Amino acid sequence: MFFMQTGKVSALTRLKKVSVPVKDIASQLWCEKQMELYEMGGFYSTPAMTKGAAMHAIMQEKVMEKLTIEPITYPDRLYKWAYENYTSLINLRKNGYCREIRMYGSINGFRVAGQLDEIRIIDGKTVIVEDKTINSKNGTNNVGLRIDVDKIQLEIYKHLFDDIKSGEYTYENFINSNGILQMSMSTEFVKGLDQIGIKNELRRLDIIHKLMFEELKKLPELSNILKLRYIDRQTTQILTEMDIVYKRETLDSYLVEAMKYWSGDREARPVSEENVWRCKMCKFFGKECKTWWKE
Ligand code: SF4
Repeated sequence: MFFMQTGKVSALTRLKKVSVPVKDIASQLWCEKQMELYEMGGFYSTPAMTKGAAMHAIMQEKVMEKLTIEPITYPDRLYKWAYENYTSLINLRKNGYCREIRMYGSINGFRVAGQLDEIRIIDGKTVIVEDKTINSKNGTNNVGLRIDVDKIQLEIYKHLFDDIKSGEYTYENFINSNGILQMSMSTEFVKGLDQIGIKNELRRLDIIHKLMFEELKKLPELSNILKLRYIDRQTTQILTEMDIVYKRETLDSYLVEAMKYWSGDREARPVSEENVWRCKMCKFFGKECKTWWKE
């Protein structure tokens, strides 16, 4: 389902994206304009996020069976994500723990995608965990600043996951909206799958996604408690862990407003006057964005 209204250019089209990233929707809460400026530069990734990504990769390697072949095309990459999701979800049911699961869904008619950090089975329920890395030298101040953004990100994952569990968003929705049946993986990648022993019947984009969706549906009921952890970037020690109670109504009203930007109903908003202090931490301040710049 791809939403487009006559006479309006959606932000997805302008930013040349195939789906709305979950982290972008959450970052709109901090500053929509900043999120857009990062996206216009290629992709949304702050220096802190780059350092965080390195730590996430280390944590992921400890628990994940990685597909050792490098994808060449976008369909190859989709396959790799789906295969790794599938094997991680099987491990989750066995071991009660897995990391880096790619989630797909639809919000207000838009394709949405993101990668949640961790899933755990706790007391018979499926619990979503999000890790944020921080520089411990800045301590709890650093934790507090973006906490609302981090909470929203967790809640969006829960929303997408609930939709898959309830059948609101299905394997068929995913296949159709992404045109999976019209895609082909590169010959080299498929040859690589063969060489590492992936069975013939698993070497198909549709089949691997079907299995992935089936595994997601088999998981125990989702907990309404979401876990948010702040981790020291250098030592990977957990500094703070908090439980967030999921409230669907609050999230829904946030999403209605946030998606108006993606549909092209309105332009990206800068921060409000009460949040001008955020501009001092923004790399675009006084350059690409002069909204609050006093020359
Ligand atoms: S300078 Fe301020 S308003 Fe402009 S993008 Fe950065 S945070 Fe947003």
